[in-house]
Amino acid sequence: MLRVAVVGSGPSGVYTAQALVQQTAVPVRVDVLDRLPCPYGLVRYGVAPDHEKIKSLQGTLRGVLEHEQVSFLGNIEAGTPELPPERLLEMYHAVVYCVGAAADRRLGIPGEDLPGSFSATEFVSWYSAHPDANPGGFALGVRSAVVVGVGNVAVDVARVLARGAQELLPTDVPQRALDLLSGSTVREVHMVGRRGPSQAKFTTKELRELGALPDASVSVEPVELALDAAFDDPSGLPTALRRNVEVLRGWAQAPPPPRGRTVRLRFFLRPVEVLAEAGRVAAVRFERTEPDGTGAVRGTGVYEEIEAQLVLRSVGYHGTPLPGLPFDPARGTVPHTAGRVLRDGRPAAGEYVAGWIKRGPTGVIGTNRPCAKETVNSLLADAPALARRTVAGDEPVDVLRRSGLRPVLWPGWLAIEAAEAALGESLGRRSVKIADWAGLLDAAGGPGP
Ligand code: NAP
Repeated sequence: MLRVAVVGSGPSGVYTAQALVQQTAVPVRVDVLDRLPCPYGLVRYGVAPDHEKIKSLQGTLRGVLEHEQVSFLGNIEAGTPELPPERLLEMYHAVVYCVGAAADRRLGIPGEDLPGSFSATEFVSWYSAHPDANPGGFALGVRSAVVVGVGNVAVDVARVLARGAQELLPTDVPQRALDLLSGSTVREVHMVGRRGPSQAKFTTKELRELGALPDASVSVEPVELALDAAFDDPSGLPTALRRNVEVLRGWAQAPPPPRGRTVRLRFFLRPVEVLAEAGRVAAVRFERTEPDGTGAVRGTGVYEEIEAQLVLRSVGYHGTPLPGLPFDPARGTVPHTAGRVLRDGRPAAGEYVAGWIKRGPTGVIGTNRPCAKETVNSLLADAPALARRTVAGDEPVDVLRRSGLRPVLWPGWLAIEAAEAALGESLGRRSVKIADWAGLLDAAGGPGP
């Protein structure tokens, strides 16, 4: 019986656990550890609350965590002085790190840390009730917001800003965020790409959604679309990009009628400075760019300022080092070969990675399934050697408790779910997320369902 720890209970961690228990050739028991008392990683704390269908994936992930060979151990952080990688290797035959890419990439321009300028991740964490999110929330008594970047996270935050709070009422968005969103005076959301529309990273489904908001319209600038050579003749583009172009062209040809709020999609604008007035964000200065013929852009020396009292920088994630594990700072990933962690260029016995910390922050949730499978195949191929590793005979949960850690087990998570359902009921809403550590840990000790 191999004892395996999976560190992280987001999609990559749960798909890793699933691939391990779906096979029968090697008997395994899997502990899925998470820093938070709640499972599901970015499915709970990243997927936008109005994306109910993607959120419903929690049902599938739940099935894995409830499998008889799998245990959930929440509120356990790996990489701390109490639980460094070498300690985990004393407790488990193999450890698979599925810790994602937790940091935001930075713009590296003056003013990006001014009051009023945030990473999109901070905003996402806040409306997703992440217990580490800024408890003060976001001042939304402003007129104009700029979202830098044109990936799916940018679309998520632009959409949440453009939606009426009424539309978010049926979701699990925390009450405090809902109250602030109800008072929002945002009228314009500018979503700005440094390259052209045929190079934007958002997916067509997400783009179309912006055009279907009940109380907001979307606008594009035909002049900017025309700058993109592939726009006139998108036939050479991959299907996904061609579809994006078709949607944008439709909006340029038949501009949607103005409604309450406007999402303005802008292209070929590179941010150069976040500008302040009275010590707060007042605008973002961009340099107009043009295609350089290689897929990149060059500056034109022409500048434009877009008024904004709120700036959300949505330029991608970056992995962070886990103390004690090797790390490639340039790529923000752990060096590996087919999921086997490399120490000094050689596979380290018993250590594996899957998900964003393995391949970088790209792809949709489903991309993690084959990624996890590859890692598990490597682990299973190594099983005879792993089985020869000496590990402590004690139950890992007892070892953790003896180290002063307080794991939240599956019944604790079910108690949190029950408390969130009760909170929702008391507010006349569906289940509403608890947004602070003390509340979550209190609930985990509660009576449960
Ligand atoms: P992303 O897809 O990598 O997009 C990052 C955006 O930031 C790109 O437009 C990029 O432009 C731009 N950018 C990067 N550096 C910049 C700079 N210095 N100045 C200006 N712009 C800059 O990242 P993401 O939106 O954070 O998404 C991460 C992953 O999560 C993606 O795989 C995404 O599909 C996934 N996701 C999926 C969903 C969904 O399926 N609904 C929702 C959220 C996230 P360039 O292309 O020019 O570099």
